[in-house]
Amino acid sequence: MAQGITEQVQHSEDSRRRAPALESVAGQATGAFPVVRMRRLRRSAVVRDLVRETALDLDDLIYPLFVVPGSGIQREIPSLPGQYHWSVDRVAQEAERLAHLGIRALLLFGIPASKDPEGSQAWCDTAPVQQAIRAIKAALPDMLVITDVCLCEYTSHGHCGHLSGQEVDNDATLPLLARTAVSHARAGADMVAPSDMMDGRVGAIRRALDEAGFTETAIMAYSAKYASAFYGPFRDAAGSAPSFGNRRGYQMDPGNAAEALREVQLDMAEGADIVMVKPALPYLDVLRRVKDTFAMPTAAYNVSGEYAMIRAAVDRGWLDERTAVWESLLGIKRAGADLIITYWAPQVAAWLQEGWRP
Ligand SMILES: [Zn+2]
Repeated sequence: MAQGITEQVQHSEDSRRRAPALESVAGQATGAFPVVRMRRLRRSAVVRDLVRETALDLDDLIYPLFVVPGSGIQREIPSLPGQYHWSVDRVAQEAERLAHLGIRALLLFGIPASKDPEGSQAWCDTAPVQQAIRAIKAALPDMLVITDVCLCEYTSHGHCGHLSGQEVDNDATLPLLARTAVSHARAGADMVAPSDMMDGRVGAIRRALDEAGFTETAIMAYSAKYASAFYGPFRDAAGSAPSFGNRRGYQMDPGNAAEALREVQLDMAEGADIVMVKPALPYLDVLRRVKDTFAMPTAAYNVSGEYAMIRAAVDRGWLDERTAVWESLLGIKRAGADLIITYWAPQVAAWLQEGWRP
């Protein structure tokens, strides 16, 4: 007996010399292995809920809506099944339905009745988006209304700014964007979201808003917006595909992450209140770096292609919709997003309302 203990002590002294850290963790000194069992905190839903590091809820989500001219329109977007074009007279009803589900923030995109090279319907006070802002705010004063500020839905060439020859002219675009943002604020938007990726646009918009007396209107800047293949379905929805060329001359190269930090830093210096990374799922590393570097309120746009991929796989029976959606959104939040713009928002809200838990 005594000899057995001696042997055990001897053995444990040997192993301490060999690998002290491992020994204390694995519990070889006591003879029980393993001492640490990670599975203890995974045994029941209650304990998993208690120790979960990242929580996702409806307060994190922003839902995009597309407003079109006309009346009585609720038309499904072919490339975005489950998403619709709404006419102004229907959009406030839809906003009320969303509010009942618990959605508290909307991001509005507008499709104008007519397009021209300048995109002048973008700052027209009676265009669909401006009318939709007024209709939603009248019906639901507490609904946070954010507006997309860009020209690509409004220009006949589909680029995000004013063209000089075949080039998008950065500096000539800035006053047009500023004018658009002021028009949205005048209609009652709580926040404007420039998505064009022109240099200096956040500063130009901030100055224009302040001069027009809209000092409280916030700016959510699409700071790191990549030239991504995942916007494909959106271009159908917004009718904004460029008629020639692409957007690589102003949107970011997918290979760059340090450059995203510079973009965010510039937007912060120009007065952005929230910064954004777009798309979300292929750029989770960028989200994490932005959040860690600047500690800014950080948004992620879970874009149309990310939505379409899950929808298509679900339709084929390859993925379980609820758990796949939840896991993707949770992953975006865990990577550093405080806010997530997502087409899934109403579905998630409905699932939660019927008592579903991931
Ligand atoms: Zn654009």
